[in-house]
Amino acid sequence: MTNKSPTIDPTELSCLKLETFIDDYLDNKLPSAKREVFEAHIDYCPGCYSFLANYRSAVHLGKAAYADEEEATCATMPDNLVEAILRASKTK
Ligand SMILES: [Zn+2]
Repeated sequence: MTNKSPTIDPTELSCLKLETFIDDYLDNKLPSAKREVFEAHIDYCPGCYSFLANYRSAVHLGKAAYADEEEATCATMPDNLVEAILRASKTK
């Protein structure tokens, strides 16, 4: 057994954590050790690979995509209103 294994374990980084690193990765702000794990995970995980590709093109498109998303969030109903509507439709 050796601790000096040069092999990177792609599962060291979870898909969820990878998403939090994407901004730094694209800005080249990740420390090289983290960057290597990040790239190993991208190679290993098709889901994160396409997530990164989509994220990259979204960044290239600018903030337009985010503006739409924010509007959608504002349009969502508060929980108590949803509950009231559900209750009203049940007592029909
Ligand atoms: Zn993943």
